[in-house]
Amino acid sequence: MRIVWICLIVMYCCVIVVSTGCSPSNLQDKEQSALEERGDFSWPVGKRAAISLTFDDARFSQIDRGLPILNEYGVKATFYVLVRPLEERLSDWKKAVTKGHEIGNHSLTHPCSGNFPFARERALENYTLGKMRYELQESNNIIERLLGVRPVTFAYPCGQKYVGRGRNLKSYVPLVAEKFLAGRGWMDEWANDPAFCDMAQLMGVELDGKDFEQVKQLFDRTLANGGWLVFCGHDIGEGGRQTTRASTLKALCEYAQDPANGLWLDTVEEVARYILKQRTGKPD
Ligand SMILES: [Zn+2]
Repeated sequence: MRIVWICLIVMYCCVIVVSTGCSPSNLQDKEQSALEERGDFSWPVGKRAAISLTFDDARFSQIDRGLPILNEYGVKATFYVLVRPLEERLSDWKKAVTKGHEIGNHSLTHPCSGNFPFARERALENYTLGKMRYELQESNNIIERLLGVRPVTFAYPCGQKYVGRGRNLKSYVPLVAEKFLAGRGWMDEWANDPAFCDMAQLMGVELDGKDFEQVKQLFDRTLANGGWLVFCGHDIGEGGRQTTRASTLKALCEYAQDPANGLWLDTVEEVARYILKQRTGKPD
């Protein structure tokens, strides 16, 4: 009797795999056809995929550990800053701007779901689009006043893209689309398809906690499908919660800067502008 049950379960699993089309070979076929459907889109000469490194919240370790590594390898990253920590290390952030790093908007008060205790006082469930519009504008105004650059890309705090709740919930993606060249999510699993992606909600993949082998696997997949992988990190150091390992960052920079590997490593702004130009034939 047990044998019969095992056979039935195995048969059921086979049917599921075939019907959902999730076998590895099927995925490779889909990637290949996605490449063929891409039509006129092409990355710059010699490049087969793009990578952007982004770091959120203007954490001090980004200045103390991250920027020296990035600058050593000549890599430009995107920093989605919060105003208060930005003010505390203002002269350092000014230096980062002169090195060519992008400064992006990450809202004024970092509103997220009130399920996070730290965000209960500014819960997205209690927000309105008007309040969010004010946050985005005011943050841009302050950053411009402090650093002399006006952000053109945005990262959704906690990767959450709504205000309100239930039947009254509204997406604030259209607001981000109106105000910014691009908006980046968080905790996504996949690279962006340059010929298809919605710039207002780019997928963002976590960089924190990964070793270089894990990064390399993501690079390989991105190179295979010609995508744009946007990495997201927070602190930079030896390890721990929400921390990009310094050793991984070094290895990543070295690998991505080697022309033989076919990767274009640049800021979200630069890659987004390139893609939009390819799509429309003119800059956005
Ligand atoms: Zn954040």
